[in-house]
Amino acid sequence: MELTHEQAQRWLLNFHGKVTDNKAYLSDLDQAIGDGDHGSNMARGTEAVKEKLASVTDESLEAVLKQTAMALISKVGGASGPLYGSAFMAMAKKAKETRDLSVLIEAGLEGIKHRGKADVGDKTMIDMWQPVATALKEGTFSQATIDQALLDVKPLKAKKGRASYVGDRSIGALDPGAVSSGYLFEALIEEVIA
Ligand code: ADP
Ligand code: MG
Ligand code: MG
Repeated sequence: MELTHEQAQRWLLNFHGKVTDNKAYLSDLDQAIGDGDHGSNMARGTEAVKEKLASVTDESLEAVLKQTAMALISKVGGASGPLYGSAFMAMAKKAKETRDLSVLIEAGLEGIKHRGKADVGDKTMIDMWQPVATALKEGTFSQATIDQALLDVKPLKAKKGRASYVGDRSIGALDPGAVSSGYLFEALIEEVIA
């Protein structure tokens, strides 16, 4: 499946809507195992993305992804800004070669892994990105992929980011970045795949 720049725009606006609607919930999740700001960080970041995309004149997929990355990096204070930013920057670079959705998401995942030096099982957003990237490649991606990833992230003990400071207390909790990434991929289903 190929991603167009119009679809990418709609995808990111939908993501902004979901993050905004669930801002308090995302911050509550972060309050339990971190510092309680993930909802406000992501709401501010995706609002900046929305503003940036409204004024983007270069109508290419690469430009949409790159502007998104830059807005997230400059407006999100927390760890999640550079991490989401790295994902979209890696996707923008990959978009010079291909518009294939699964290849782009895979590149985004690699961008996050490279930036945060984390991997599957560390209880981070990677535990949402990895199963989605795999399912997209295998042609099995659906809402069930997201729901399963959220179930699978709960029992993990956080090994990266602020949640790693609370140690065993992170076991049983949802990771806020995995949940916000779940919204990103639900928006992808609604705007691009469905
Ligand atoms: P901060 O922790 O700086 O307050 P946020 O609360 O906005 O930033 O984001 C926290 C989320 O960032 C976590 O829930 C986790 O998903 C993600 N995260 C933190 N560190 C890493 C890392 N090294 N690699 C991948 N994701 C990470
Ligand atoms: Mg936080
Ligand atoms: Mg913070």
